[in-house]
Amino acid sequence: MNLNRNIRIAIISLLFVLNFSAASSQTKLNIIDKTVSFGMRSTPLRNINTIIVHSVYNAMGGDIYDINLIIKQFSRYRVSSHYVIGREGNIYQLVQEKNISFHAGQSNLPDGSQGVNLCSIGIELVDSIGTSPTELQIQSLTALVKDIQSRYTIKYVLRHSDIAPGRKTDPWNMDWPDFMNRIGDKGSFINFKKDSMFNLKIDTLFKLVH
Ligand SMILES: [Zn+2]
Repeated sequence: MNLNRNIRIAIISLLFVLNFSAASSQTKLNIIDKTVSFGMRSTPLRNINTIIVHSVYNAMGGDIYDINLIIKQFSRYRVSSHYVIGREGNIYQLVQEKNISFHAGQSNLPDGSQGVNLCSIGIELVDSIGTSPTELQIQSLTALVKDIQSRYTIKYVLRHSDIAPGRKTDPWNMDWPDFMNRIGDKGSFINFKKDSMFNLKIDTLFKLVH
């Protein structure tokens, strides 16, 4: 009788501990809603397999790091991204992940596919040409990317400059290898370099033939 009771208490305690540790190991992201209706397209179904990291600042006057001014700038150019991460690490959501946001422009993935906006999630770091992302931003970016990776099969985590070389230079002044280490991604960057050289050769051949 007593033994049963002790076993029951032990099991309940164990369940409590397991439950508690499971809850505490979850990344709890604090996401601030800034939903926009421009620079995006609603879609019922899309295959998300890529994350593109960008940087952005407000170049229209006023505080270059102000989130609302950055969103106003996006509205002027009819572009957006799914997320913007502020200098203090705040994560703002502009477009739901299931919808397409217009952040990549003319670009190619390492496997040669275009239409990057269709399959990707775009994340902007608020930064400027002369500054680097802050540690708080990198921490939030790491948590957000890991969270996205836990929900989709992500093939590529890339910089905008990786998919639009010669046209785009962002994210600026970012320690990319350090970020790759933080998300535990050893492969996609190296694979990309290899693939992009291959694609370059194909492109060159294509131009020669035509
Ligand atoms: Zn960009």
